Amino acid sequence: MEGVYENARTVLERISRAAVESGRSPESIKLVAASKMNSAERVRQAYDAGVRAFGENRVQEMTEKLALGAYEGAELHFIGHLQKNKVKNVVGKAQVIESVDSLELMELIGRRAVAMGICQDVFVEINIGREENKSGIEKERTDEFLAQCGNISGIMVKGLMAIPPKSADIWKTERYFEEMSKLFIDMKAKKYDNVNMTFLSMGMSSDFEAAIRRGANIVRVGTAIFGERIYK
Ligand SMILES: *Cc1c(COP(=O)(O)O)cnc(C)c1O
Repeated sequence: MEGVYENARTVLERISRAAVESGRSPESIKLVAASKMNSAERVRQAYDAGVRAFGENRVQEMTEKLALGAYEGAELHFIGHLQKNKVKNVVGKAQVIESVDSLELMELIGRRAVAMGICQDVFVEINIGREENKSGIEKERTDEFLAQCGNISGIMVKGLMAIPPKSADIWKTERYFEEMSKLFIDMKAKKYDNVNMTFLSMGMSSDFEAAIRRGANIVRVGTAIFGERIYK
């Protein structure tokens, strides 16, 4: 494995190529480097290579790296499961909370944002594979969910996010990407208060090019940039 800098350059190049191949401009795709379990220093190496958005899963880790200035000059996305008692540590710190999966959580985020005098950008996480152990709302509930967001102050829904079931078969994954793409286009065409559907976040290290071909405009890539994570 090369260093973080070289890996990040390679991923950015692969994104550009996939964008061009599907008739889109490289600038229309945003790379969010999933930097969990990687130090502030390694985050800066990715930044130096041109990465301008980072994604974190854990509030504690994000807070520590924020204090070290790890994300300076870049966007910060929260992409992990957000516990209700940690909402206050993320609202106003992350530019986007990608992983909102319940109305209750949406309301708590909104309440905190209003108290801070800001509007928090959020995505709705969709459990596209209907996996029991995974977060996210069912695709069929998206309409109803977005309509209900109209009653919540302090939030703006800017996109949809999904993590399809793990599969060695890229065609299965592509079918989920396609389903997400259809849902995204469908929701984009509708008008809901507090919803400005702009971003479709899907695709990780093993499948981000396929996701781009199916319409993703945000990909979240960890391992291909930072190497394998070592879980203790
Ligand atoms: C870790 C993570 C990623 C990146 O996964 P890789 O397979 O390492 O690229 C993407 N999205 C979320 C929500 C993650 O937690």
